[in-house]
Amino acid sequence: HREPAEIVKKLFMLGIMTNQNQSLDKDTIELLAADYGIEAVEKVHEDISDIDNIFAQEMEASKNSDNQVVRPPVVTIMGHVDHGKTTLLDRLRHTRVSEHEAGGITQNIGAYQVRINDRLITFLDTPGHAAFSSMRARGAEITDIVVLIVAADDGVMPQTIEAIDHAKSAGVPIIVAINKMDRPGANPAHVTEQLMQYELIPEAYGGSTIFVNISAKTGMGIDELLENIILEADMLELKADPKQKAIGTVVEARLSRGKGPVADVLIQQGTLRVGDPIVVGDTFGRVRTMTNDKGHQVKKATPAMPVEITGLNDVPESADKLVVFDDEKTARAVGEARAQQSLQKQRENTQHVTLDNLFDTMKRESMKSVNIVLKADVQGSAEALGQSLQKIDVEGVRVNIIHSGVGAINESDVTLASASNAVIIGFNVRPTATAKSQAAGESVDIRLYSIIYKAIDDVKAAMQGLLEPTY
Ligand code: GDP
Repeated sequence: HREPAEIVKKLFMLGIMTNQNQSLDKDTIELLAADYGIEAVEKVHEDISDIDNIFAQEMEASKNSDNQVVRPPVVTIMGHVDHGKTTLLDRLRHTRVSEHEAGGITQNIGAYQVRINDRLITFLDTPGHAAFSSMRARGAEITDIVVLIVAADDGVMPQTIEAIDHAKSAGVPIIVAINKMDRPGANPAHVTEQLMQYELIPEAYGGSTIFVNISAKTGMGIDELLENIILEADMLELKADPKQKAIGTVVEARLSRGKGPVADVLIQQGTLRVGDPIVVGDTFGRVRTMTNDKGHQVKKATPAMPVEITGLNDVPESADKLVVFDDEKTARAVGEARAQQSLQKQRENTQHVTLDNLFDTMKRESMKSVNIVLKADVQGSAEALGQSLQKIDVEGVRVNIIHSGVGAINESDVTLASASNAVIIGFNVRPTATAKSQAAGESVDIRLYSIIYKAIDDVKAAMQGLLEPTY
């Protein structure tokens, strides 16, 4: 124990001016301790109610574990409307699930597993990039592979491009499935050519993207698609440690009349068992029952397995994380604390990057690039504006156009902007009514322009901290 006066004096000798009421920073404390010949050890207060942190730690622990085993890949199907996402999911479910599981009644638990050559693949049952990105926006990255479905008789359409951008911005590899090959107008060569403009290059042309021709209707090419998913999964070396404590993510949740709160959870690491004390988002409980995708009750769930669980005190939200605690008392305390905290947070309301706060955010978060979603009335303007924006360079910080398209600003644009912390710029276009209210709800900044140089000036000024605020 040392007297404060002595410490102040000592610091003075070390060239640091301070008084008894000031708190010392980490460097100063280290300096002081060194002078006394002792080593300063930082005391980290582990907050057990921070389940995101527990989740991240378990994820990290699995990487260094000796118990790692190969786990099934988790796949999301994306593509333009009517290109066959639902048909493909249905076909996989019916041909690959029920025929192998006699007596099983397939049931919708947000995801299901199919078998090919004794390997499993987990398909998320909600197709499309909206679901994908809204999970991502909430910090859940559960998809390992995206299957991009493109109709052979229709080719690349606006939502095809959106899907590509969503997958790319999440860094998830894409497998291309050219669908409707049974149709007379099918032209896979043309579709391939179109996709090559979006950096999806098949191996035959020197690229590394897998292309498979399929018909979700007749079943043609489906086995080949599944085999290629396994191939891609093997390249990604997807592994998990089934021996550690379970962590997972909620895919869907609801209140059931008979069962109470029900959560469809995808297990990501470890093994979840009936009876485990859990916290899921802001809810808690003990796993009472677990049901698999065939409607069978199971006692345990392993990595990449989707299960419906009951036993929670309340209904969690999709994208919520599940972690296991040692005892139910702790789980309850954590769950209750989290419910309190989230009430508090709702009042504070999180803020995304906007042109007005861009400069401060750039400094605070040492941003390397500014993400922009760009929509314009015609392709030419989108390209011209995009190119000019990408030329802006403010002290090494550049503009990154994560999506550029033609047409009104829609919900998908807002979801992508929200997930990627981007500002939306519209040139001679407006947001749809739903996009507008969604943007307001998620505080995504939408800026509308009709003069190209004005848009460029604003972005540049915002990056320099010189933008005049608009009211
Ligand atoms: P989604 O909007 O992407 O989910 O598309 P759907 O799965 O609902 O398919 C849209 C339409 O295309 C439906 O009428 C399907 O029957 C049809 N369809 C889907 N796949 C195929 C296919 O491989 N061949 C043919 N001929 N029709 C298909």
